[in-house]
Amino acid sequence: MTSDPVVTEIVVIGSELIDGRRQDKNGGFLAKELAHLGVSVRRIALVPDTLDAIKQEISEILQRRPSILVLCGGLGPTSDDITKEIVASTLGMNLVTDEQALTNVRDRVASFRRDEASLSMAAEQGIRKQATVFENGRWFPNRVGVAVGVATTIDGTEVYLLPGPPRELQEMVVHEVVPDIQTRFRLEDRLVRLFRTAGLREVEVFGKVDPLMGISRGIDVSFLPSPGLVDVVLKAPAERGEQLAEKAGAIRSVLGTAVYAEEDIDLPTLVGRELERRCEFLVTAESCTAGGVARLITEIPGSSRYFLGGIVAYHNDIKQRLLGVRPEELEVYGAVSFEVAHAMARGARERLSSDWAISVTGIAGPEGGSEKKPVGLVYFGLACPDGTVTVSKRVLGGDRTSIRFASVRLALDLLRRGLFGSIEAEDG
Ligand code: ATP
Ligand code: MG
Repeated sequence: MTSDPVVTEIVVIGSELIDGRRQDKNGGFLAKELAHLGVSVRRIALVPDTLDAIKQEISEILQRRPSILVLCGGLGPTSDDITKEIVASTLGMNLVTDEQALTNVRDRVASFRRDEASLSMAAEQGIRKQATVFENGRWFPNRVGVAVGVATTIDGTEVYLLPGPPRELQEMVVHEVVPDIQTRFRLEDRLVRLFRTAGLREVEVFGKVDPLMGISRGIDVSFLPSPGLVDVVLKAPAERGEQLAEKAGAIRSVLGTAVYAEEDIDLPTLVGRELERRCEFLVTAESCTAGGVARLITEIPGSSRYFLGGIVAYHNDIKQRLLGVRPEELEVYGAVSFEVAHAMARGARERLSSDWAISVTGIAGPEGGSEKKPVGLVYFGLACPDGTVTVSKRVLGGDRTSIRFASVRLALDLLRRGLFGSIEAEDG
């Protein structure tokens, strides 16, 4: 299917996003969601919430005639929430109260209220304000907050106004705006393949994958690294399905057991599902990550079905008293060592009566490194249901925060390898 490129401009509204009080989370999210649709974003503007700034921005953008204009922020009930009113006056359109939108907004407000007292006049005005829509326009319910999103078409540009709070915007984009865009534009079908990898650095993944891409015209590959992980994304037009499948097969075999998923699933969810399926339990013994592994695991709803708990064994004393690490092991090999990671995992599994135990001990820095044990050196232990313990060693780059974050992911990856039988691929 061929079609004109669908060009989008995004305006993120909020003075607090310009003076550094808060980081914009909406522009990037929107751009990523639109990219999945094959819609390119030409520009993201950050604009303060003042009448003149917003008015000028909209007028300039509409002269460039984008296919889509998305504005976010300032749909709320208060007098500083002025986006809808300014857009309406700039476009010369009327705002009207939509009865269904009003019912929706009332229901949302009621769901947040615990008392039965009647609403003040100001609250009632706020409700009506959040339920106005463009005359002959469209509106989208807000399932997280209150204010509805609205959209209208002006001179061939689809204009969307969305709430500012990121969770509200994200839900509305995924469930309302994306489907709306799909019905309004003939979007080129794009095929996407995802490989999520753990344990390899971006250069290593690139070094393996890039040589395979040589003459694959029409197939885009991108690498998305985060501490400990790298995603590889392949995209191709629908008619190149066969070549894409071929490339995907080659990539799968060079990346091997580093690939933990080929779908949009994260490590804590993946290992959690497997533990639950097996009816097995996990505990953690963490030194340099100080509970980071436990935290990530428990972000998954239902994790109490397989996660028993963990010990933050930061001081050697705790490693000895609660995990049974022997003083000689600490003295001879040091807290950051193969032997201590081993003893921590074994001790946690036994003392906490678990099937599995993960241990982490490392030097997150910036101080504490030496020639033999540099900053970034981390040992991971995994005690398995049969009582065997595997230890894996890494030297991680980056600052304290990224070393700790990568360590959390790599600890989960070691568990993943234990659960799915690819532990022999570890470099011990
Ligand atoms: P509300 O009904 O909550 O007032 P709104 O649609 O009027 O929503 P704003 O008033 O602009 O939106 O922002 C509400 C909250 O969301 C503020 O705390 C604001 O800092 C935050 N917020 C708005 N836009 C963004 C953004 N792009 N990135 C991160 N936070 C944002
Ligand atoms: Mg507001």
